[in-house]
Amino acid sequence: MAKQPMLKFVKVERDMPTKRAAKERREDFHEIYAEYADAKAKEQASRCSQCGVPYCQSHCPLHNNIPDWLRLTAEGRLQEAYEVSQATNTFPEICGRICPQDRLCEGNCVIEQSGHGTVTIGSVEKYITDTAWEEGWVLPIKPARERKESVGIIGAGPGGLAAADVLRRQGVQVTVYDRYDRAGGLLIYGIPGFKLEKPVVMRRNEQLEKGGVRFVLNCNIGEDMSFEEIRAQHDAVIIATGVYKSRDLGGPGSGADGIVKALDYLTASNRKSFGDEVAEFDSGKLNAEGKKVVVIGGGDTAMDCVRTAIRQGAESVKCLYRRDRANMPGSQREVQNAEEEGVQFEWLTAPKGFTGDPVDGVIVERMRLGLPDATGRQMPEVIEGSDYVEPADLVIKALGFEPEELPTLWGVPELEVTRWGTIKAEFTTGATALPGVYAVGDIVRGASLVVWAIRDGRDCAEAVLRQLNGASAVAAE
Ligand code: FAD
Ligand code: SF4
Ligand code: SF4
Repeated sequence: MAKQPMLKFVKVERDMPTKRAAKERREDFHEIYAEYADAKAKEQASRCSQCGVPYCQSHCPLHNNIPDWLRLTAEGRLQEAYEVSQATNTFPEICGRICPQDRLCEGNCVIEQSGHGTVTIGSVEKYITDTAWEEGWVLPIKPARERKESVGIIGAGPGGLAAADVLRRQGVQVTVYDRYDRAGGLLIYGIPGFKLEKPVVMRRNEQLEKGGVRFVLNCNIGEDMSFEEIRAQHDAVIIATGVYKSRDLGGPGSGADGIVKALDYLTASNRKSFGDEVAEFDSGKLNAEGKKVVVIGGGDTAMDCVRTAIRQGAESVKCLYRRDRANMPGSQREVQNAEEEGVQFEWLTAPKGFTGDPVDGVIVERMRLGLPDATGRQMPEVIEGSDYVEPADLVIKALGFEPEELPTLWGVPELEVTRWGTIKAEFTTGATALPGVYAVGDIVRGASLVVWAIRDGRDCAEAVLRQLNGASAVAAE
């Protein structure tokens, strides 16, 4: 009988891939975790207890078949592991890198609950598909037959690209429009290289292009082309435009030079990593080098800003957040990484105003946590008379994002939105109030996660296929 390769969690300790030393990683924008060696990936996969009811799978938004690809990895059957993994996830190597696994699959692994340390699901998922790329198993799409119907997708982020992939595999003619010069959305211009190196995304863009997906870049819908033109050209349209309007700060001095938006700052840094000319970076406006940097916010965007500032050679980097560490929205893993790299966190603080123009300081108020609000979350309250000035010559606002007003911008008032401005769409299909128009990702959910955008894109593509199949059946009658 074959030797039992699984259930090794009792003997084998949880072991993440090696994290580079903070001193070294402060100097560059490369990812901070090394790749598993083959033997290590097998060993870590073999810790899985192959649960009959795998909670890891039910808490993965894509319901990835995790126990199966862990077993195949432990057995050394990597190509099969890749086939199983890619059947439910369009970009497994991306999710393996940047999903907040502690809140999703790994946080619900039963052996974690029994005190043995979770199976390192994300790292194994990344390892499987990185190996698939190295071995040449990831191939451009070759549909069995071409169809004449076409779908226009507005937005080349993970939501739009996941939909493009599913539709193209069925032979549909797919055109993806994006206002940026590179496809990838926030995978390219939001998330920094130390979490997700850019070639990992670019090779996916190339794979889609080689498989027949047509990209129309530098095309801002609503300006360079109207929404109605897109609708007229395609049998169905998917809106996957994300959320880009930054929440702002008020208070005296908030309009001073040197106070910038997180996404402008991160985009400039990501563009520099491609070797692009970025005037506002070269002028110093969006460059933290030699500066006292204060980042305001406690989410993942704030974490990306503080860690980018460290890598740009800031003199000091502080993060102000109005709640405490336990109540921050960002991942605890990222806070730990930031602390190791030299970021100082000022918990329970909020900006009241700014001094100087250009800015030279933030007037900070200390907070305490008061009574819970309707959601049960304790509300921060100001401690009167606790103000102090934090010296700063670059202030980065990372307070979250809201949707742009698409019905107005695009002149389509019939496109219904929620009271938060996100597009009203059916969650399982993405269908909107307009016939043949669908929406997916952050523009429906509000700022969310890559894995949810992928899920939406895949579900929506299936719904679009049902629409196209229905229409072609009627035409054939
Ligand atoms: P996006 O990725 O935003 O893509 C939308 C695309 O639409 C963009 O390319 C944009 O140029 C294009 N577009 C918009 N309007 C138009 C128009 N009018 N015409 C043409 N094109 C248009 N999630 C995680 O899971 N893990 C993380 O670690 C993580 N880190 C993040 C860090 C930062 C700094 C930010 C901002 C977000 C992070 N997220 C993370 C969230 C994640 O990036 C998003 O949830 C995800 O990218 C949403 O995908 P999407 O396809 O809906 O939109
Ligand atoms: Fe976990 Fe994300 Fe992979 Fe799902 S896609 S298994 S949540 S890392
Ligand atoms: Fe394996 Fe953990 Fe998933 Fe159970 S919950 S199948 S042990 S990874």
